[in-house]
Amino acid sequence: MKHINLTTPYLNLDPIFYQEVHPTPLKNPTLVSLNSDAAHLIGVDPAKLTPHDLEEILNGTTLLEGSRPYAMCYAGHQFGYYVPRLGDGRAINLGEINGWNLQLKGSGQTLYSRQGDGRAVLRSSIREYLISEAMHALGIPTSRALALISSDEKVARERWEKGAIVLRLAPSWIRFGSFEYFFHTNQHDKLQKLADFCITQSYPQFLDQEECYGKMFGEIVKRTAEMIAHWQSVGFNHGVMNTDNMSAIGITIDYGPYAFLDTFESGYICNHTDHEGRYSFDNQPRIGHWNLSQLGRALSPLITQEKIEQELAKYGEYFTTKLMELLKNKLGLDELEQKDGELFRSLFTAMENGRIDMTPFFRTLSRYDGDRLSLLALTLAPNQLNEWLTLYDERLKNNSSTMDERHAKMVKTNPKYILKNYILQEAIDAAEQNNFELTNDLLTLAQYPYDEHIAFERYAGVTPMEHKNLKLSCSS
Ligand code: AMP
Ligand code: MG
Repeated sequence: MKHINLTTPYLNLDPIFYQEVHPTPLKNPTLVSLNSDAAHLIGVDPAKLTPHDLEEILNGTTLLEGSRPYAMCYAGHQFGYYVPRLGDGRAINLGEINGWNLQLKGSGQTLYSRQGDGRAVLRSSIREYLISEAMHALGIPTSRALALISSDEKVARERWEKGAIVLRLAPSWIRFGSFEYFFHTNQHDKLQKLADFCITQSYPQFLDQEECYGKMFGEIVKRTAEMIAHWQSVGFNHGVMNTDNMSAIGITIDYGPYAFLDTFESGYICNHTDHEGRYSFDNQPRIGHWNLSQLGRALSPLITQEKIEQELAKYGEYFTTKLMELLKNKLGLDELEQKDGELFRSLFTAMENGRIDMTPFFRTLSRYDGDRLSLLALTLAPNQLNEWLTLYDERLKNNSSTMDERHAKMVKTNPKYILKNYILQEAIDAAEQNNFELTNDLLTLAQYPYDEHIAFERYAGVTPMEHKNLKLSCSS
């Protein structure tokens, strides 16, 4: 890996877009995990990577060839309020290879750190490392993670915690907030340069086209809507949908106090500090639109108002179409029918009323053969679920595939393993005692969520009562 050659096209932009800054190493770095799949993405043979090499690369004591480390400048709306300058306060970009931009998270202070220490703790780094691979395996657009180191560095949060660094990868790290920074500081020439850069890097199909910025915006609207439809279909609550955490290429980034729902609760808020529930599970689609309207405003010097509104207006349709398709697949239906929206809605109402744990429910449904007992055992409102199952039985009569075919499709659509917070916490507790085995086992579960993993059957069931739908601190 030491011999891969990175490029840094972002540094061809004016220096106002970034700060060139070197990582500050952690004390006694230890490799926690390497994700071989991600190594292949950047053309590296994982077998040739030693833990020592990785420790040095992630810790910034070895610089990869061609790398000129830098932090990116951006702004953003946080909980609805505009913050004029944020930027990579604890992330440092190393450069690009094979279309992937390598970024260290937790590697020390930068010009954009404000009062922060530039660090990330082991707890949140494990969460980010594992979830990005889990999301990818579930078919959800996301940043990826190559490796994770822990250290003996003490980092102050609610308590002292271990400092850690994740090496994460994305085709682009440009955020809605990157555009907002140049719009709100009235630097419209720079705004255009950033848009040109983004098109060249991520939307080359629009290069040199008329209305290329409007087309780029339209594509971001579509990708964002579809990404959030994916979140809703698996019960993912991001928790901090500030515009600085929204990707210009429509991938899920900046994992903080996220959660996969345990019991289905539409108003669930995973983020302990989100008192008003701005980023609650059922608000996510609406917030996606609000964030896009902020992006539209930021791009207004480059796109006509009419075009911005026209593209924004398609959001609902993109979202609904994607969600319907995903739910159709989750229920093993061959084709969508007119009344399926009602079937889906009544299922979610039955899940909510029956306090149903979403993941084991859909997994059990994947083997439904008319015998309802195992499903009814999962609900506190059996009559309602019974009624719904009668509708489902009726609906399945219109399916052309056989029951076996339906089962085969559904077990590849409805994961058996979802990294719920209580499961992650077990891995974190062990890792804090320098035992990384469970973290690595969970990486396998994350990467193969539809498979049977006999040794981890305990994680496939209903979440234990004391761990259900807890809120998480956003300290990280
Ligand atoms: P987040 O909500 O975690 O994505 O972070 C919001 C902003 O705060 C970003 O600009 C981060 O770079 C910055 N930030 C978060 N934590 C730290 C930290 N420990 N040190 C410096 N900057 C941070
Ligand atoms: Mg962020």
